[in-house]
Amino acid sequence: MEEIADNLATIRDNIIQACQRANRNPEDITIIGVTKYVTIERATEAIETGILDLGENRLEGFLQKYEALSKKATWHFIGSLQSRKVKDIINKIDTIHSLDRKSLAKEINKRANRVIPCFVQVNVSGEESKHGLPFEEVHNFIDQLKNYSNIKVIGLMTMAPLTEDEQVIRNTFRNLKELRDQIQVNKWEHAPCNYLSMGMSNDYSIAIEEGATHIRIGSKLVGSNQ
Ligand SMILES: *Cc1c(COP(=O)(O)O)cnc(C)c1O
Repeated sequence: MEEIADNLATIRDNIIQACQRANRNPEDITIIGVTKYVTIERATEAIETGILDLGENRLEGFLQKYEALSKKATWHFIGSLQSRKVKDIINKIDTIHSLDRKSLAKEINKRANRVIPCFVQVNVSGEESKHGLPFEEVHNFIDQLKNYSNIKVIGLMTMAPLTEDEQVIRNTFRNLKELRDQIQVNKWEHAPCNYLSMGMSNDYSIAIEEGATHIRIGSKLVGSNQ
C-alpha cells in the first residue's frame, strides 16, 4: 500500500495547480480524508500525516473510528443519515454534509446540544440513484430551516455523476456554485452558505477549479482496499 504522505504530497501539488488555474488560494481548500474503506490503524496514520479532518459515511464505521480516535480529528459525516440514528452521532460529529430533508433537519435540531454546521446535499444532476435534495427545492428548503436554531447551513454539497465526461462533471460543480451564490444573496443569518463540499478522488481538481472549498478524498489518499 502506498504511503499516505506520498499521496498527500501529490494531492497538495494538484490542489496548488488547480488553484493557479482558477486564481484561488490553496489555503481555502480543506482536505477531508475519507476513511470509510480503511482500518483504525490506517486512519491513525492519516492523522499522524497531518490530515486532521476525517470523513465517514456510515454510522457503524464512524462510531468505531470515533471511539478509537475521537479528539484527534475533526469529524465529517458524509453519508446519508437515517433520522432515527441521528441521536447516536449528533453530539460526536463536527459537521454534517448530507442534510437533505426536513425530517432530518427536525431530528438534528431536536437532538443536538449545540449548533451543528451542516452542508445541504443537492442532487444536481437529477439522477434517481443519488441522494440529495432536488436542485429546484434547495432555496425553499434552506429558507425553512431558519426555525431550527441548532442548524447552521455553512454550505452546499454534491457528488458528481459517475461518468468519464469531464464537461458533465464540471457543469455539475458549476451549477452548485451558482446555486450557492444565489443563496448567499439572501444574507440569511442561519445560512451563510460560504462553502462548497464537492470533489472526490477522481474529480477534485475540476471541483477546485469550479470553487470547491472542501474536497472529500478516500481511495487516492488513504486507499480503498483494506
Ligand atoms: C466514499 C465517498 C467519498 C470518497 O470517495 P473516493 O472516490 O474514494 O475519494 C467522498 N464523498 C462521499 C459522500 C463518499 O461516500
